[in-house]
Amino acid sequence: MTGTPFDIKSMTPEELRAELAGLGESGFRADQIFAWLHRGARSFGEMTDLSKPLRDKLSGLYRVSAPETVRRRESAIDGTVKYLRRLGDGELVESVVMRYRHGNTVCVSSQAGCRMGCAFCASALGGLSRNLLPSEILDQVIFSAPAPGGRGAGISNIVLMGIGEPLDNFENVMRFLELVSHPRGMNVGMRHISLSTCGLTEKVDKLGESGLQLTLSVSLHAPDDETRTRLMPVNKAGGVAALMASCRRYFARTGRRVSFEYALIDGVNDTKGHARELARLLRGEPWHLNLIPLNRVAERGLRPSGRESVEAFAGILTEGRVNFTFRRRLGADIDAACGQLRRGGDSR
Ligand code: SAH
Repeated sequence: MTGTPFDIKSMTPEELRAELAGLGESGFRADQIFAWLHRGARSFGEMTDLSKPLRDKLSGLYRVSAPETVRRRESAIDGTVKYLRRLGDGELVESVVMRYRHGNTVCVSSQAGCRMGCAFCASALGGLSRNLLPSEILDQVIFSAPAPGGRGAGISNIVLMGIGEPLDNFENVMRFLELVSHPRGMNVGMRHISLSTCGLTEKVDKLGESGLQLTLSVSLHAPDDETRTRLMPVNKAGGVAALMASCRRYFARTGRRVSFEYALIDGVNDTKGHARELARLLRGEPWHLNLIPLNRVAERGLRPSGRESVEAFAGILTEGRVNFTFRRRLGADIDAACGQLRRGGDSR
């Protein structure tokens, strides 16, 4: 299994049933425990419909993950909330809750740090410390529910767009998806979940083979290999052509159109030449493009594109009939916007 043997919240209902059967307990008990865990119980002691001897036995055998919120910051501009949480071994990771009219979206981290090394992103500073367990990814959803104790309360969408490269932690992320979408748990449907990747092509294929109906976002950021490799070392593997080929296979297998993310960086990927090449790359295919203003990361010497370049860029895409939108920037005043999350939290 993917968690540690004691990590009961990383278990599927079937695994939990098997564990409980080993203790001479019924499947019904296992289902009760699953529901408690996914509703945010922090210990077996809280599971008041289990007998005291059973609660004691379970406490001796398993660990219930329960992150400690170290800091909660709220944007004065748009109400976005950023959480910094301490995990069982002291690792600190960030997650963000964004408030939209149609409901709340939680942005979760999948790793403590990241080893992809993108030149513009705060999450890559300091490299990868470790993968998060399924329970640790799940806890970011469970404990972000605005109404404590309410199952799935207020969280309608999940984006795997926090710290880390989700496809670099493939097994645990797949397990997380299974758990968070379970009808007896948070019950978030796949169509309400987006996963963003820097473009690990073999893993994109593997995800496609799963047939899951989530939305795949791909961080593109440049239409040509020279620019993309400069910004994203992952591009060295097969380049833009291999990435697009894996996206086409993904679409063929799942029927889900892929979303591309493109952060406009002053003088780096925002020229008319880039726009024309991007239009050629995306034209006539079932993709969607999200243009993102570059968010500031103090350690990176990059600036967001100026208004004129953005307008010229967008104009060329429109002419090229590329389907695109501008992503709203949320939580920038609390360093909670795209690319600003970091292992250990911000230094304020
Ligand atoms: N590792 C995955 C998940 C991270 S999602 C991925 O690369 O997709 C975070 C998104 O924010 C990615 O699209 C990333 O490319 C983008 N991003 C990173 N740094 C940024 C910055 N400084 N400004 C705007 N977007 C940024």
